[in-house]
Order: sequence, then structure tokens, then C-alpha cells
Amino acid sequence: MKKAIIPVISILILSQLSFCQQKGDKSVTENNSTSTTFEIEKPDSEWKKILTPEQYQVLREKGTEYAFSGKYYLYDKKGIYRCAACGNPLFDSKTKYHSGSGWPSFYKPIDEDAVVLRPDNSDGMKRTEILCGRCGGHLGHVFEDGPKPTGLRYCVNSIAMEFEKKNKKD
Ligand SMILES: [Zn+2]
Repeated sequence: MKKAIIPVISILILSQLSFCQQKGDKSVTENNSTSTTFEIEKPDSEWKKILTPEQYQVLREKGTEYAFSGKYYLYDKKGIYRCAACGNPLFDSKTKYHSGSGWPSFYKPIDEDAVVLRPDNSDGMKRTEILCGRCGGHLGHVFEDGPKPTGLRYCVNSIAMEFEKKNKKD
């Protein structure tokens, strides 16, 4: 019973949310493997214990928080953003910029392996999904309308990240 209800609920929730809007329809997928295995893999029941229901909905069910609602959208402190699920460092505040999109936006990840990109054709849109490179958690989408030097906009849900102030060593 429960199994049949969850996908329906997910679709209902997703259809009510605003999405990062894509301005072009080019794909920026580089690592387009769909069978990536991640260093941290857990059953859904485990993730449910670790994450809040809101975090679970975004990170594990690929939800999207409402535009302009996230705690890091207009956040300008210096530091790094880590995956809220596994702590993997994802983005440096140095690459964060004001995109006007309603979600925290970065022009590049903190390093090459921090995230994995994957084609996402859900909801009638051709987009590129951003996953945490360590746990595979859904973070947001990347678009090709970002600033120099990369021209990319990593559009990320605040709820999928935890900020850590600079001057703390890993
Ligand atoms: Zn992660």
C-alpha cells in the first residue's frame, strides 16, 4: 500500500514546486554515467533517520525547495558548503553569486569530484542534475547561463547543504 502511495505523493509535491528555470536547452552533462556507485550508500530507511523530512524529500526524492525560501539564497558569509547528508565539501563561498533565480548559485564546485552530473529529463524538461559525489544525494541542477569563468550556474537547494565558516580546518 505504502509503496504505491509514495510515488504519487512525490509527483504531487513536485508538481506544486517551482523549479530552477532553464534558459537554454543545451545539456552540460559531462559525467553522464547513470550507474555511478557512491562511497556512501544507505537504504532509504537509514537516510530517513539521518535527514529531516524536508531534507529527505530534496536529497533522496529529488524535490526542489520553493524559490527564494532557502536559508542560503542571500547568504554571503565566507566558508564552504557541505552536503547536508554526508558532509562532503561541495562549494566554496568564493564561487557563489547572486543569480536572481531564487536558489543559491555557484559557478563551480569546490573540486572536480565534489559533485556528479547526470542528465535529468523529468517533468518535461531537459536538465542536468547535480548529485553529491560522495553519497549521491540530489542537490539541484546546473545550467549554462552562469558567469565567467565557467559560464555555468550550479543551482542548489539550500536545504541540501550545511554551511561551515572559514578558518575551521577539516
Ligand atoms: Zn553527500
